[in-house]
Amino acid sequence: MKITIFGTGYVGLVTGTCLADVGHDVMCMDVDADKIARLHKGEIPIYEPGLETMVTANVASGRLRFTTDPAEAVGHGELQFIAVGTPPDEDGSADLKYVLAVAKTIGEHMTEPKVIVDKSTVPVGTADRVHATVASTLAERGVYIDFDVCSNPEFLKEGAAIEDFSGGARIVVGTGSEHVKALMRECYGPYNRNHEKMMFMDVRAAELTKYAANAMLATKISFMNEIANLAERLGADVEQVRQGIGSDPRIGYHFIYPGCGYGGSCFPKDVQALARTASEVDYPADLLNAVESVNRRQKSTLFAKLNQAFDGDLAGKTIALWGLAFKPNTDDMRDAPSRDVMEALWAAGARVQAYDPEAMKECRRIYGERDDLVLVADRIQAVKGADALVICTEWKEFRILDFDWLKAQLAMPVVVDGRNLFPPKAVKDAGLMYYAVGRGDSL
Ligand code: NAD
Repeated sequence: MKITIFGTGYVGLVTGTCLADVGHDVMCMDVDADKIARLHKGEIPIYEPGLETMVTANVASGRLRFTTDPAEAVGHGELQFIAVGTPPDEDGSADLKYVLAVAKTIGEHMTEPKVIVDKSTVPVGTADRVHATVASTLAERGVYIDFDVCSNPEFLKEGAAIEDFSGGARIVVGTGSEHVKALMRECYGPYNRNHEKMMFMDVRAAELTKYAANAMLATKISFMNEIANLAERLGADVEQVRQGIGSDPRIGYHFIYPGCGYGGSCFPKDVQALARTASEVDYPADLLNAVESVNRRQKSTLFAKLNQAFDGDLAGKTIALWGLAFKPNTDDMRDAPSRDVMEALWAAGARVQAYDPEAMKECRRIYGERDDLVLVADRIQAVKGADALVICTEWKEFRILDFDWLKAQLAMPVVVDGRNLFPPKAVKDAGLMYYAVGRGDSL
């Protein structure tokens, strides 16, 4: 099939590459000329395991192409995927300006029937707005061309995006049209061979499914952080509690790790957007609001612990920071807890010496050159000459640590671990003060 993807971010580039990989003829379009120029040179603008090899192979085969030309992009695909960003607006609602700009572009250049596939995460009712935008743009041109709009939310996780796209639990498509169903079946056929993964539903149900999924996962995290905060005050170890409840199959082990709060480009904005949608229909979304406020509070706990360990005097101190990305295996720092920690440290007059295996370029892009931020080549250099260590991301390479060695590096023996990576007793036996999350015996 001929497929066009608008947006070459985490979702668009992975979707385009995976669809090309199974034999479709894919054209990816982006308004960011720099991104497209880099892709033409074989450079991948984001870090996603396995993506570079796959992009290279599919570009070489001629099945994956990139363009900034809207007419070429609209002319190419019978399926037109919208995979552009939907960042939060000032009031927390999803900002649809990029999605609707793509709808307008499609309306401006369409010369034959198309199926528009909304893959961006968008509020209920957006397919109708995309439809109306395309229809009014066609009307302005004085032409009538048939088209459909369906919803096909994406459930991939950064860091395992290719795996998730190829082997995800379900492929949700919101449409009432048999024609669209047939095309979407054909598009995803290679990913739907072993058991039926296609789930056809109403457009509104598909749009809400994506928000409900993210809100449920965020709820699990905030719930566990609430329990961790309680455990800390009650002298219980939340890691034992986690295992105790995770063993119940009704609860399960996934997404119940206590930590320094969820971040990334999805959970924070999607929980807020769903709460905003609720308020628009006069529904008091108490649970969603609580999930959000627990998370906001959780993101401030690492700094609070550090500040307490230094009796409120962090001015002039150098703090080593391990992990900048919002989670391992990505370079994404959108809403990352590390940013809350760094920004609070800078406000307190401290200096940050940071290391992340993938997100240092992104950190430099966000914060630029500044005297109170030093990015170093590895975790060892990060602690050299530092007063204390804070861990924000559970990269695998941080998991094994010689605590005696660490004690010798730090001016103050303080370790604030936002991911509960170590056994508290072993850390404390080395003479370190260990502040983890919800671990009674680390107090
Ligand atoms: P991103 O910010 O990484 O990429 C968006 C891309 O769209 C950018 O390259 C931008 O230049 C491009 N763009 C903006 N306007 C455009 C236009 N008019 N035409 C063509 N390209 C345009 O975003 P992302 O993380 O890939 O997310 C995209 C959508 O998918 C969002 O709605 C997000 O909520 C959703 N989503 C993201 C993830 C994730 O893990 N990142 C997972 C599932 C769903």
